Amino acid sequence: MSSKQALTEWDKRYLWHPFTQMKEWFEEEIIIIERGDGIYLIDIDGKHYIDGISSMWTNVHGHRHQAINDALKTQIDKVSHSTLLGYSNVPAIQLAKKLVEITPEGLNRVFFSDNGSTAVEIALKIAHQFWQHQGEIHRDTFVSIDHAYHGDTIGAVSIGRIDLFHQIFQSLLFPSISVSTPYAYRSTISDDPAEVRDACLHKLERVLQSDADKISAVVAEPIVQGAGGMLIAPDGFLRGVADLTQKYGTLLILDEVMTGLGRTGRMWACEHENVAPDILCTAKGLTAGYLPLAATLTTNRIHDTFLGEYHEMKTFFHGHTFTGNQLGCVAALANLEIFERENLLEKIQPKIIHFKNRLQTFYNLKHVGDVRTIGMIGAVELVQDKTTKAEFSSQHKVGIRVCKAALKHGAILRPLVNTIVIMPPLSIAITELNQLLDVVYAAIQEVLEA
Ligand code: PLP
Repeated sequence: MSSKQALTEWDKRYLWHPFTQMKEWFEEEIIIIERGDGIYLIDIDGKHYIDGISSMWTNVHGHRHQAINDALKTQIDKVSHSTLLGYSNVPAIQLAKKLVEITPEGLNRVFFSDNGSTAVEIALKIAHQFWQHQGEIHRDTFVSIDHAYHGDTIGAVSIGRIDLFHQIFQSLLFPSISVSTPYAYRSTISDDPAEVRDACLHKLERVLQSDADKISAVVAEPIVQGAGGMLIAPDGFLRGVADLTQKYGTLLILDEVMTGLGRTGRMWACEHENVAPDILCTAKGLTAGYLPLAATLTTNRIHDTFLGEYHEMKTFFHGHTFTGNQLGCVAALANLEIFERENLLEKIQPKIIHFKNRLQTFYNLKHVGDVRTIGMIGAVELVQDKTTKAEFSSQHKVGIRVCKAALKHGAILRPLVNTIVIMPPLSIAITELNQLLDVVYAAIQEVLEA
């Protein structure tokens, strides 16, 4: 084993970390994770941290879960990877069947890939080609929602709406239409979430009406916009979007990459409003945070337009080397088995209520402007001034500073600018959840009220 000093030096010399200002990284003491145990990540010095963001919103049952480990070990002794291009494999078939069974009615086909961005990229390409097959060749425009994040590949960025991440790539992107998000806390329309919702739906309807024959699909993160700040849509917004896509005959693509697999308290966020999309994307929690695996599910209506003789060239010419990888699929199957065996979605409901109630106490803090919560997602928006809702400028780096303070007290977090995200594994015990919330509360106090 290399010493911590050597690893730190090699990290800083060889690694390029995602979404990270490397100049700052070079100057920092870094945490090197060596092991995991339940909700804890353990660094090379043996220090334990609560995984307060489920390792970028992926972990479901804790680290090193016995059943998933066992399933993986068994599969490794059979085969770790073989291609799905022209051949099939056992876990991919079993997982496809399972996903069709547990996703909303009508989603009958599963296309595997390896991360959230590719799941979305595939959804866009399937929608595009679907309309070509239908003879509606001018339907090549996507509509997405302000503050949306759908990943980092060029297609996903083209429908992304976070300037901080996306603006610099503008000249590389294909055009798409953006519509307002019902971000009630910062809306200039009204203080009433229902009015904000209706105004946003009205704007969407105007777009769908005026560009009816150009629009391929509306793409949305259902109920919660994740990287945009954990923005929770008012009740009825998703239902309204779905109804409008139906009314104007366009497709609905739901990106459940962050929200899926129980994160919002239901298996899929779209279940909260009884919505069944034409295409659904899932990744992150699909393997309980173990391995990179993603899936894009579609209806037979879409899939069947791709059928034809080879020479008709209706094939979907898309695929990734590790599409349907056996280890990923086995981890996902073991993950879903735990959901069923432990009746997990029912079991976590009291915890969700406790989480929600405790988060309300964060309003007692001087700089907490908004608290947003659903399922096992919590977000605390820090503001310079509660009355005016004035934001902290990026120079203050308040989000980063609060997360650093939390780290000292034993929790790993990652902010979304000035919003502190609290998203532990679903398996967290109430005592551990209390511990995590105490740390976050104290960290905010320490940074902003000391
Ligand atoms: N879609 C949503 C809603 C996400 O939150 C993310 C990642 O955070 C992605 C897509 C991209 O997933 P990945 O990072 O696995 O490419």
